[in-house]
Amino acid sequence: MVDYKCSKCGADLPADSKFCLSCGTKVAKETRPEHEPVHQVFQFLFSKNLIIAAILFGLLLIWIGVIVLTFSSDYTGIRVAQVLNSLGFFATGAFLIGGGIVNDTMDRFVRLGMIVIGVYMITSVLALTSLISSIPWT
Ligand SMILES: [Zn+2]
Repeated sequence: MVDYKCSKCGADLPADSKFCLSCGTKVAKETRPEHEPVHQVFQFLFSKNLIIAAILFGLLLIWIGVIVLTFSSDYTGIRVAQVLNSLGFFATGAFLIGGGIVNDTMDRFVRLGMIVIGVYMITSVLALTSLISSIPWT
């Protein structure tokens, strides 16, 4: 298995070599492959703690929306509830999908489940939003 390439001549080197076998150049430590900065940002953004925080925040919005809906007596209340629910579903769904794709520290079946649930949440809220928008409020 090849882990390193010589920075001078490009020859493939074993992981533990200190000097290039082909040209004798000293092997730099930096030749170890590292993640891109953008990738690191995504890794941070979709770390387990932030995913859980975003999901709880989304569920809180949904919960407030349900309470508003329960106690609303006019269409304004329903509108507010719908906005809160939509934001909550989008936040939760987006972080489930993002976390499922990016966070490779979790079990792959958990990640697959997160993506499926996230896609389900976002498609449902899109369907519900278009349905509610099509109702001719009077
Ligand atoms: Zn070399």
